[in-house]
Amino acid sequence: MSETANPFESLQSQIDEAAAYLDIGDDVIERLKHPERVLETNLTVELDDGSLERFKAFRSQFNGDRGPYKGGIRYHPQVSRDEVKALSGWMTYKTAIVDIPLGGGKGGIIIDPDDYSESELERITRAFAKELTPMIGEDRDIPAPDVNTGQREMNWIKDTYETLENTTEPGVITGKDLNSGGSEGRVEATGRSTVIAAREAFDYLDKDLQGATVAVQGYGNAGWIAAKLIDEMGATVVAASDSSGGIYNPDGFDPVAAKEHKNETGSVVGFHDAEAEITNEDVLTLDVDLLIPAALENAIDGDLAEDVQADVISEAANGPLTPEADAVLADEDVFVVPDILANAGGVTVSYFEWVQNRQRFYWSEERVNEELENIIVDGFDALVEALEANALDNPRTATYVVAIQRVADAYEEAGSFP
Ligand code: GLU
Repeated sequence: MSETANPFESLQSQIDEAAAYLDIGDDVIERLKHPERVLETNLTVELDDGSLERFKAFRSQFNGDRGPYKGGIRYHPQVSRDEVKALSGWMTYKTAIVDIPLGGGKGGIIIDPDDYSESELERITRAFAKELTPMIGEDRDIPAPDVNTGQREMNWIKDTYETLENTTEPGVITGKDLNSGGSEGRVEATGRSTVIAAREAFDYLDKDLQGATVAVQGYGNAGWIAAKLIDEMGATVVAASDSSGGIYNPDGFDPVAAKEHKNETGSVVGFHDAEAEITNEDVLTLDVDLLIPAALENAIDGDLAEDVQADVISEAANGPLTPEADAVLADEDVFVVPDILANAGGVTVSYFEWVQNRQRFYWSEERVNEELENIIVDGFDALVEALEANALDNPRTATYVVAIQRVADAYEEAGSFP
């Protein structure tokens, strides 16, 4: 895995690439390349043994031209100011391509959550929620889960915020448990949009998804659900990996059984029905029809991209390809459905959750999935239109052309203040 590409620089080069096809002034593009503000805070938290530890945390509010800042909070040792800034920018263009009335934000704590007990994680989360309270709110900035956070952390943040503000405001955060105001379908949403996007790409390319072979890099919430749903659509999952390594069975395996094995042992490695052990890199370069990178940024750099054999890539992770990898794959006619569309199911169902919270009226899972389907298909159609209208060879650039135009229009229509 390459550590070399700075994700914030990757974001900026993606914007520049698309800006060349847009009639938007450089001064406005400059605005769209930088966050409006970034909170950097130090949380001092008591551990179970009574000692204190300091944790650095960030929240970047990238752009609010189309609505309240929106985006997850991740807990990972690799979190940095530039990573959070990049992720918040990607959220801005993600909410724009799926055309939901939200901006972009992102947060993170530099921490390996495996090293801490549940009660320590609760105190750390509540300490961060206290720092965030003045800057979040259902009309201001709405956090959500991301890498290594989920319903449990969202419930704690909601409770801390509501306690400090002496109110009930479930729409201040999304990705909550159902009993705490969460939405049906939210947990599955990222994996679901990744496979809807892949299906649309196969249709567009006149390729058959039935029996198509699939490799999934990363078997967390997004990766394993994508594996399960693509298998249900008739494709064959032949390889999967997590941070401990990868597994491969050329005849395919049951993705749900592989997940059960991971739940029991901590990894997919050793799963009885896919005994061939391969590396994470091997998973990315297998001769498959569809590759789903579902781990972290920079999984595929320019060198590794030369060895990628998949025909279609649907990005469940944020930023899995470096700009160099992107250029190599576009040259080789690999159809990449970019992260900001492929994994937009998470934030789209977060939007549905926020709508339901505000209306105090809750939808069925069927309705959630139907509305999600429509939004992702519309996003894909907008991608194709921009791809063809501009004679582009890179679907990511086409997606940014649409998304940047929408953000710039909202900014310009509002006029300038002060
Ligand atoms: N963390 C997810 C993402 O990167 C979801 C964000 C949200 O639901 O606001 O898109």
